[in-house]
Amino acid sequence: MSAPEMTPNAKPILEICDLGKSFGSVRVLHDISLKVMPSQVVVIIGPSGSGKSTLLRCCNCLEIPQQGSITICDKDIVTDGVVLPEKELNALRMHVGMVFQSFNLFPHLTVLDNVAVGPRRLRGMKKADAEDLARAQLAKVGLAERADAYPAQLSGGQKQRVAIARALAMEPRVMLFDEPTSALDPELVGEVLQVMKALASEGMTMIVVTHEMGFARDVADEVLVMDGTVIEHGKPEEIFSNPQHPRTQSFLQSIL
Ligand code: ADP
Ligand code: MG
Repeated sequence: MSAPEMTPNAKPILEICDLGKSFGSVRVLHDISLKVMPSQVVVIIGPSGSGKSTLLRCCNCLEIPQQGSITICDKDIVTDGVVLPEKELNALRMHVGMVFQSFNLFPHLTVLDNVAVGPRRLRGMKKADAEDLARAQLAKVGLAERADAYPAQLSGGQKQRVAIARALAMEPRVMLFDEPTSALDPELVGEVLQVMKALASEGMTMIVVTHEMGFARDVADEVLVMDGTVIEHGKPEEIFSNPQHPRTQSFLQSIL
């Protein structure tokens, strides 16, 4: 358990209570409850179609769950399908950084502008201040020298590091990663995981959907196994060495 969790009055950064989500008549998430404390790293694993992406997307209301509630920094963003008014929702969304499998960079903007555009447009920062912030975040992901490049000139690993810098430029309270290395050639996975490890060790609160078991073992405080709901959770060594649920066992066998 990391230090901030032991602080008696620490409040969760993100709390999910009894969440349920359907698409039409198909129920994809049910009875999910989760508390993520400051500086905690939660890794989510589970088979394709088990609802991992949908759960992350619910956390900033890219999808609206019909049941249960999600609380971010002590504020309910959605309760039983009722979402906060747009303005408040957008303010809270800024606390939640998101990194996707496909980097989603703006192709027509330089690396620097990709990172600075959020602070300028959404946080109302002046151009020079937003660019200073963007340069600092690019330095953090090891890409200070590529500020003037365009996304097409970068490798996949570099693009994903820009996407991480872009999310960090909003100074979020929690970072959500949805299979951030799945689209990368194997030799580029390490540089992205390295950046994520550094973030975790600086105390960033993170939820990471990944099948990189080495990363989970090194960094995760807790691993959740999903299959429509959380079928099992525990320390990485418990889940990987001694999985209890038959579906965890077969899933782990399938990815080894
Ligand atoms: P995972 O990320 O674990 O692979 P997803 O959250 O993407 O799983 O999907 C969970 C289930 O929800 C799947 O059966 C998927 O087909 C379904 N689903 C996801 N998004 C939508 C959508 N927008 N409309 C209808 N069904 C969806
Ligand atoms: Mg997914």
